[in-house]
Amino acid sequence: MSEQTYGFDTLAVHAGAEPDPATGARQVPIYQTTAYVFRDADHAARLFNLEELGFIYSRLTNPTVAALANRVAALEGAAGGIACSSGHAAQIMALFPLMGPGCNIVASSRLYGGTITQFSHTIRRFGWSATFVDTDDLDAVEAAIDDNTRAIFCETIANPGGYVSDLDALARIAERAGVPLIVDNTTATPWLCRPIDHGATLVVHSATKYLTGNGTVTGGIVVDSGRFDWAASDKFPSLSQPEPAYHGLTFATLGEMAFTFHATAVGLRDLGMTMNPQGAHYTLMGIETLGLRMERHVANARAVAEWLEKDPRVEQVTYAGLDSSPYFERSKAITPKGAGALFTLGLKGGYDACVKLVDSLKLFSHVANLGDTRSLVIHPASTTHRQLDAEQQAKAGAAPNVVRLSIGIESVDDIIADLDQGLAAATA
Ligand SMILES: *Cc1c(COP(=O)(O)O)cnc(C)c1O
Repeated sequence: MSEQTYGFDTLAVHAGAEPDPATGARQVPIYQTTAYVFRDADHAARLFNLEELGFIYSRLTNPTVAALANRVAALEGAAGGIACSSGHAAQIMALFPLMGPGCNIVASSRLYGGTITQFSHTIRRFGWSATFVDTDDLDAVEAAIDDNTRAIFCETIANPGGYVSDLDALARIAERAGVPLIVDNTTATPWLCRPIDHGATLVVHSATKYLTGNGTVTGGIVVDSGRFDWAASDKFPSLSQPEPAYHGLTFATLGEMAFTFHATAVGLRDLGMTMNPQGAHYTLMGIETLGLRMERHVANARAVAEWLEKDPRVEQVTYAGLDSSPYFERSKAITPKGAGALFTLGLKGGYDACVKLVDSLKLFSHVANLGDTRSLVIHPASTTHRQLDAEQQAKAGAAPNVVRLSIGIESVDDIIADLDQGLAAATA
């Protein structure tokens, strides 16, 4: 079956899954099993040697989880991928085959706050490090790359400030440096942007957000374009040379599946950041309506941003879909169907007015999440970006007078009415 010929919404419903061969079940069953019976000793040996593909143990692979990974790979135009236990797990899983002690990544200074923390502190325990740069300054990106750099990392639409990355330019820099571009596509989703079409090698997702779409699952995805030549240099020995952690197999000989198989056979096997089949099932359900939901999310976000921009109580709205945004033109090239549904507004009343607004909203839920069917609000400086210092907060678009909105799929008039009464209370 040639899935490449199907449109996005067809793939969202069908890719990665066939009717269950054992029962004919039309929906992807939740294979709630830890292990799988081998036909005989030879079958078992062939599976362990990767000579035949099949299921061994659910820390590595599971049919429900595999359907999800394959569906996202199809939507992203990728060769393969893995599902894992969270978005943050996906980031570690993406880096794991590429990195070793002493290696670094060049990362955008405008990333999800938790990612900045993970890259600033936690990965140092592995001997890895990150150099943060403003990825709009392409010379700075180029200058930050050194002999130990193993990837460039950015977000398509950076949360929370609505910055759109110039993926094509960053991919060209990565290519010149002989390293992959890794893109966190969580806030855009493949419906708005397929980073691989812009030259990215690896795409990571927090499936917790729009992919599942309704705030029921914590999960992550990594997909690989299959096009990076890992053996072109000696930078990626886990892939280009015999891997001691997998009886000396040279994963690069597996061609476009090299990264996916390493991430499964070594990454999931030894780090164990596995997605559970029930979570994968919910995310598959969510993805079936991804296109429909994103269309509404984007339409609502644009209407709300336009309304807020005209409101005298509001100092600034950072939404790349507004023609006042410095990212408006870039957004048309990178996310042509819309600039997402996540943006910030600055309030003239500063920190206190922000806190009052958050406390006064009724329809919006005050939560540390985004990409839910429900409209959500948070004050980053006192929550998600609290671990960052003032300079990092400002660089990340999370200054003290900034509130982040994740616009849901409710009736847009109700969303605007709630913001109207909230702003009235905040500025009283
Ligand atoms: C939420 C989020 C993450 C982390 O994902 P979890 O599933 O919470 O681990 C990473 N990147 C972005 C852009 C996110 O929004």
